[in-house]
Amino acid sequence: MTPSPPAGGPPVLVIASGNAGKIREFQALLADLPVRVQPQPEGLEVEETGETFAENARLKAAAVARATGCWALADDSGLSVSALAGAPGVHSARYADSDGARIARLLRELAGADDRSARFTAALAVADPEGTIQLVVEGICEGLILEECRGSGGFGYDPVFLVPAAGLTYAELSKELKGRIGHRGRAFAQLAPQLQALLGVASAPQRDQPA
Ligand code: IMP
Repeated sequence: MTPSPPAGGPPVLVIASGNAGKIREFQALLADLPVRVQPQPEGLEVEETGETFAENARLKAAAVARATGCWALADDSGLSVSALAGAPGVHSARYADSDGARIARLLRELAGADDRSARFTAALAVADPEGTIQLVVEGICEGLILEECRGSGGFGYDPVFLVPAAGLTYAELSKELKGRIGHRGRAFAQLAPQLQALLGVASAPQRDQPA
């Protein structure tokens, strides 16, 4: 279904992702904001050609806003490992074919490394209905890559990413705690008040409404 701009009421915010899990996560995070959250149109693919997380988030938000004529929110995230010169970075999803294979490759490439420091980054970008970027924020969570998996929650690289401040891996953190100290939660905490201010202005009386 292609989202259509609203005639009135809260603005539509299209989530620039085809990933159902991500859309659910954003729906929960956006529950308190005056927006109507919708998924992006089926079949819309935006190539992630940026060299940074922020660049990719901007590309996706702008493309989806232009395609739908609605406000759009995009995210891009990944793991950057110091001893691997920042890899897998923006290629985190494409590092191997499955979560297990991605972790196995990471541990193989880090074998014998003294420096196991790493960070997760989440960039969020918001584009207005014309496709102009209005907001970009980044959330970061610093950690260490363990030599073996710990914990059963989460997804992706979670079982090998230790958050030293918590003494737990991402896969051992509760959803609530990951939402608070994790990269995505931190990015969203910055985004929420700014998005509210932005849409508050945008949802002021529209030109085509009767006086
Ligand atoms: P994208 O943001 O959808 O491009 O995904 C980036 C990739 O980074 C994901 O496929 C995961 O492999 C990894 N990633 C991003 N966030 C997390 C996380 O919270 N835990 C574990 N892996 C993550």
